Parts: sequence; structure tokens; C-alpha cells
Amino acid sequence: MISFSNKNRNLFRDRLVNEKFDLLIIGGGVTGAGILLDAQTRGLKAALIEMQDFAQGTSSRSTKLIHGGLRYLKQFEFALVAEVGKERAIVHKNAPHLTIAEKMLLPLTEKGSIGKLGARFGLWLYDFLAGVKKGERRIMLSAEEVLKREPLLDKTKTIGGALYYEYRTDDARLTFEIIKEAVLRDGLALNYLKAEEMLFNGERKIVGVKAKDLITGDICFINADYVINATGPWVDETDALDQSSKKSKIIHTKGVHIVIDHKKLPLGQSVYFDVPDGRMVFAIPREGKTYIGTTDTFYTGDIVDPEISLEDREYLINATNQIFPNSDLKLSDIESGWAGLRPLVREEGKSPSAISRKDEVFEYESGLITIAGGKLTGYRKMAEKVIDIIRKRIKVKIGQDIGYCQTAAIQLAGGKFSESLEKVLANYVKDGERVGLSAKETEKVFYRFGSNTEKVLKYAQEEALEGISLYWSIQLQYCLEEEMIAGAEDFFVRRTGALYFDIDEVRKYKEAVVNHMSNYFQWPENVRSSNLKSIDNLLFNFQGGK
Ligand SMILES: Cc1cc2nc3c(=O)[nH]c(=O)nc-3n(C[C@H](O)[C@H](O)[C@H](O)COP(=O)(O)OP(=O)(O)OC[C@H]3O[C@@H](n4cnc5c(N)ncnc54)[C@H](O)[C@@H]3O)c2cc1C
Repeated sequence: MISFSNKNRNLFRDRLVNEKFDLLIIGGGVTGAGILLDAQTRGLKAALIEMQDFAQGTSSRSTKLIHGGLRYLKQFEFALVAEVGKERAIVHKNAPHLTIAEKMLLPLTEKGSIGKLGARFGLWLYDFLAGVKKGERRIMLSAEEVLKREPLLDKTKTIGGALYYEYRTDDARLTFEIIKEAVLRDGLALNYLKAEEMLFNGERKIVGVKAKDLITGDICFINADYVINATGPWVDETDALDQSSKKSKIIHTKGVHIVIDHKKLPLGQSVYFDVPDGRMVFAIPREGKTYIGTTDTFYTGDIVDPEISLEDREYLINATNQIFPNSDLKLSDIESGWAGLRPLVREEGKSPSAISRKDEVFEYESGLITIAGGKLTGYRKMAEKVIDIIRKRIKVKIGQDIGYCQTAAIQLAGGKFSESLEKVLANYVKDGERVGLSAKETEKVFYRFGSNTEKVLKYAQEEALEGISLYWSIQLQYCLEEEMIAGAEDFFVRRTGALYFDIDEVRKYKEAVVNHMSNYFQWPENVRSSNLKSIDNLLFNFQGGK
């Protein structure tokens, strides 16, 4: 099998152009990834194209939680809570190293949006509907217990609280591991390839896509029986290529997260807290940092790179200082952050937070299928809906049944464990020590690459790359050989999350990493320097809370 490396890009592209596919998916976020895997596991021959890096759209810019759906209770979306709760358990089973149970403290305050009774009833209902397992069910707390757990909270306003569980994930890696699993099953996925036109037959049915390779500038024609638009915030733009639907399906709201050093807000656990405008915000400790978010405002600006405005930063800093009055956070404490766009299915007249997060599938005369809205957590069910439509169409067309969705039982790439995570990790830590990695470093590698840690550690048998620590060196080599990185940003942002959770290391190794990538890919000088510049720009954005 050809390794999933950008150095094999031409081979993958040749396949895309020369073969005919049952299904072509436009969009390499979690929605498209899920559809690719579902299709592939039902025996279809599927391909996916992504115009940026995989997950570079919304799927690397979320709150990074596999939700049980607590917030949907406020909107009385009981069926959604039940579905999301079940899905959470499945996602956890299929990629346990990427979905870690995270205790969440819900402090209740005077004049807060939830009262004691409401919280008690709401969390009971949530446990029931979402099928929360024993040991992870709600625990109601007195004010004293809440303050003992989280002394930074306002003693004068806290009236009680509760503990419940969310599952923390790495959204970009989850998306990528779904894609990798599909590729292992002979699915084809390529990043930096943009769908620019739909191809039609004489009856105006879609028979493929004309796409542009954004690395080489080449134009490719890809043939497929069915085409899926899974382009998230770009759903309307992609639909416009089909021309059978002119109506806008989605509305964008922007959600910003900021990252600060954990020492600046030394929380004992994650906290989900009230904000004076009636919304709720998460503060989640992770890898020595704490990230806080999110905002939720209507958005009409640039979709590719939504900015984190001063207003966004002030909103999150003020909200945090309000609930943790002794924290005294300043704008200059912000080290990094991200802004994402929710592609919400249009519901006129509702405020951003009141618009449902449900998904919807649209079918057009041309044969195009578009899926909009939804959540990271529900990616598998969204994929099932789309492939079930294809199943029906294939049945009508050729009388063949491709069968039911299989993905609930499929361990994702990196999630292939036959023993408990603790046991597997303990063995890797020993392996890591033998090659010179600290236990902490091996642990971080493990929670990133899961059962592929073995492959990552193999690179430690060679000498570390020049100017790069062993820890980063082995990850870079693995990502170059097996994770389709095409630029330094792919590595530092979406494969490792280093820009958010290890920003000092990015500063330290950016030049050596870019130089190594440049040698590896034989980049001309202008590509090398633009890679370095793009990392510098990302770092600069957060200097001094700018
Ligand atoms: C702030 C925020 C917080 C969130 N938090 C959570 C959370 O904690 N838990 C949760 O479950 N959900 C959460 N969500 C929702 C979740 O992140 C999204 O529903 C999900 O990531 C959307 O995935 P997608 O694949 O539909 O879109 P995207 O991830 O945006 O993928 C679409 C892709 O299509 C590509 N594309 C566009 N046009 C083309 C073209 N012409 N050719 C090729 N490719 C193209 C884009 O580059 C993009 O990568 C959050 C969302 C936001 C914004």
C-alpha cells in the first residue's frame, strides 16, 4: 500500500483522475470524513477532496468536546440529547485515546441562568436521555463543596453546583483518524484540491467534479456516480456550483476560543459557567494551558480565516474574570486561540445561540446531495443518513443492496486497542524510556497517535533531526511519512495542536521544522520562506494579546 504521505501526492491524484468512483465527497472536515468511511465500509468506492488541509475548516476550531448534549435540553431537543448521548459512547469506543472523560463543574450562582432545582432536574433528565453510564452520572454539590473544588469562584455568589461529564477530544485528529481509517480501507482522500465546477451529463445529472490542485495549479477531472457536498460553512458556495439550488441553506455564527497558561487560571477541573448575557462558556484545562470559549455571534466576513476580534477577546476575558473574580486575567495573558464558524441550518428570527445545531440533508434534481449543520459528535449518524440515501438510489438503479451502516463497530486508525488504555500506555512509556523520551512525552504522543504510537517511536531508533528535540523529531517524521502534511502549519496546528498547547516549542523549533520539511520536499526558497512566514504570522497574532 502506498503510504499516506504528501510525497506520494501525484500517485493519489493520478488515481483520482484515472479511476471512476461510486462517490465523491467535497469537503474534508468531520462530516466529509465520516461519509467517506461509511461509504467505504459499505463496499462503495469513494473519494474525498479537501481544498485546504483536512479539518482546516470548522473541524479544527470547535470546543473540542464530544458532547452528551446537555445544552440541547434548554431548547427542549430531547431526541437530540438521546441520540448525541449514544453517539458519544460510540465515538469513545472507536477512538478511546481521543475521547477522554472530563469532569465538568457546573457552578450555580445567584441570578444565574440555571437554578438549583432546574440543574437537578435537567441533569437527571440528561443522564436518563443520554444513557450516561454509572460512575459518570451527575453529582449535586453544596456551595461549600463547589468552593472546595474551585476556590477561585466567587464565594459571595456561589449557591451550589453539580459535576457531570463531557468527553474531551482533539477535533482535527479525530477527523484525520476517520479519514486515515477510510484510506486504510482503500478510500481515497486528498487535501489542497478544490472543487471548482460540477460536471454534468446530457440529462443534467452530476457525473463528477472539475477540481484544481492548489499546490501545483493543475486541473483534474474526477468522475463519480454520486457527488456529496459536505463543505460545512461553504455549503452555499458549493451548492452554487450545481445551480439547481439558489436558496441559501445556512447561516454562519462565529465561535472564538482563547488559550492562556494554566498558571494564570489554575483551575482544578473544567468549568462550564454562566455569562451575564445568558450564555454559557467552558474553561478547560489541557496540557498546561486552559482554553476558554466560546463566543456565538452572527458572522458575514471571510470564511477561510475568521478573525479573533478585540471584542471577542474582551468578552471571554471579562466573562472569566466575572466568575473567577480573583483571576484578574488581562488581554495580554492570551497566548493563542482559534475562531470557527458554525454552519447552522437557517432559522430566521432566532438569536445565534437559539438556532438549532441539527443537521439537514438536501437532495437536488442534478443528483447532488448536500449535508449542512450538525456537530462533531454526531458525525457518524450524519454520514449514515447520506449513505442511506445513496443505498436507496443504488437499489433503484441496479437492484443491489449495499446494506446498513457499519461504522459503530469500527475502531478508527490509531484507536486499535485490545487492552485497556492504561496498560497499553504503560508499555509505550517503557519503550519510550528506552529510546530517551520522558514518560510525559510518551504520554502526549500516545494521546495524539494512539495505537500508532509504536510507529512514531520507531523513528527514535534513528538520530533526531538537526535542531529538533527527539520528541518533535519523531512526530514530524511520522507525519511526513504517514499523515499527508504539506506545510508547517498542517504539522503545528492540525496534526499536533502545538500552536495552541505548546506555543513555546513552536517558537523554538519552527525554523528547524520548516528547514527539514524543505529538504524533505525539495521546496524552492520561496515555499520554505512562506511556510516560515505563515507560522510567524500565527505566532504574531497573539503577541501581547493583540
Ligand atoms: C466555536 C465552535 C465550537 C464547536 N464545538 C463543538 C463541540 O465541542 N462539539 C461538537 O460536537 N461540535 C462542536 N462544534 C460543531 C462542529 O465543530 C461542526 O459541526 C463540524 O466541525 C462541522 O464539520 P464539517 O465537516 O461540516 O465542516 P468543516 O469542518 O468546515 O469542513 C468543510 C470543509 O470543506 C472544505 N471545502 C469547502 N469548499 C470546498 C471546495 N470547493 N472543494 C474542496 N473542499 C472544500 C473546507 O475547506 C472545509 O475543510 C463547534 C463549532 C464551532 C464553530
